[in-house]
Amino acid sequence: MDLTLGPKERLFRDRVRSFMAEALPADLRAKGEIMAEFTREEVVRWWKILSAQGWIAPAWPRSAGGSGWSILERIIFDVEVNRAGAPRYTNAGVAMAGPAILRYGTPEQQARFLPRILAAGDVWCQGYSEPGAGSDLASLTTKAVLDGDHYIVTGTKIWTTLGHWADRMFGLVRTNPDVKQQLGITFLLIDMKTPGITVRPIPRINGVHEFNQIFFDAVPVPVADRLGEEGQGWTIAKHVLMHERMIVGGGFGSLARFSGMLRRVAGEERVDGGPLIENPEFRARLASLEVELQQIVETGMRYLRHAQADSKLGYEMSALKLDSTRVQYEMAELLMEAVGWYALPHSLQALLNGWGNEAPVGPAYAMGLAPNFFDWRKMRIGGGGSDEISHNIIAKQTLRL
Ligand SMILES: Cc1cc2nc3c(=O)[nH]c(=O)nc-3n(C[C@H](O)[C@H](O)[C@H](O)COP(=O)(O)OP(=O)(O)OC[C@H]3O[C@@H](n4cnc5c(N)ncnc54)[C@H](O)[C@@H]3O)c2cc1C
Repeated sequence: MDLTLGPKERLFRDRVRSFMAEALPADLRAKGEIMAEFTREEVVRWWKILSAQGWIAPAWPRSAGGSGWSILERIIFDVEVNRAGAPRYTNAGVAMAGPAILRYGTPEQQARFLPRILAAGDVWCQGYSEPGAGSDLASLTTKAVLDGDHYIVTGTKIWTTLGHWADRMFGLVRTNPDVKQQLGITFLLIDMKTPGITVRPIPRINGVHEFNQIFFDAVPVPVADRLGEEGQGWTIAKHVLMHERMIVGGGFGSLARFSGMLRRVAGEERVDGGPLIENPEFRARLASLEVELQQIVETGMRYLRHAQADSKLGYEMSALKLDSTRVQYEMAELLMEAVGWYALPHSLQALLNGWGNEAPVGPAYAMGLAPNFFDWRKMRIGGGGSDEISHNIIAKQTLRL
């Protein structure tokens, strides 16, 4: 991936690079190098380091406590964080709840929630999907009934990323079943420690615990924790979805990391007596993916600049998300193919420790490549709409279909 940098941006990149070299703890760096999963403690420890540096919210304006960076600076930061193998810095609080509270929150809500997000004091999760409401989100049925100064919430949410880590959920509930579906939805900021909430884990295909189903059994949520007006939830939800697509689609650092790894692995693997990187068929596939990556970055920067200027963005973010997740998926597939059968084992433990008394086999970079490839399929379903839904949005908005 080629970013054209002027002297100012090169200085910025060097500053981020030396910060990463000094501030990223060695134990986190070691895990990042083998793309291992981080624990809650590790991720929050890293967020607090970024927070102390004033870098936890790259996309927020400086007036709201963010870094106030340009689009190019944000991309440079993303590339450098990924390059160093640091834990994810985007989180549901900074990337979704925060921007929604900034836009729709009362001054009291902003004073209560935003400083805690910036200080990594709370982990947030997103409570949108339900077993019967995914792509067709407006059909959600988790209900909230007003009782004095509380809503009583009953129902269930599913696929809740990091719901088991979360202190707070921003969620959609039905407050009025008698109006058009979209108009009966309200947006709540729910304390996950409230009695009546149960969290049930759902394992990912690679064995990692990230998803959950959350059950609400008559859970009281103060009216003061409603974002916007009653019935305004759908409007706020769409605003948040736009930010979600922007985060997923604009994850250029992760794409750059994959393409760098592809080149490194192809330099070491051998085919027909020579390095894989010199094999014409492999080179053609790699070149095609890298060209696509460059095109995504150029187009993405244009979209992100519009978003920063607060222009209304619709299908553009879906297009960006669609392309980025597809290219990342294809890179993960090529990486797995490049390594061959050493990529296959699903048990990271087996690879780390060997089977039985045997020493581990295969190169260290082969670890977990197949399970991760299968797991990556998820990004073409979640993160702001599946491939099919993204196509529908683009078709509706550009072709008026
Ligand atoms: C990695 C990941 C993280 C997630 N994190 C969260 C989270 O934190 N919080 C949360 O609330 N949810 C989360 N989700 C859930 C996600 O929003 C839903 O999975 C997604 O909206 C799809 O809904 P569904 O799973 O019910 O599938 P369905 O909507 O049942 O779709 C099944 C299939 O049918 C297709 N389809 C559906 N409708 C149409 C249509 N109209 N036209 C064409 N094709 C269609 C879909 O594309 C898909 O292939 C996450 C999902 C993933 C994969």
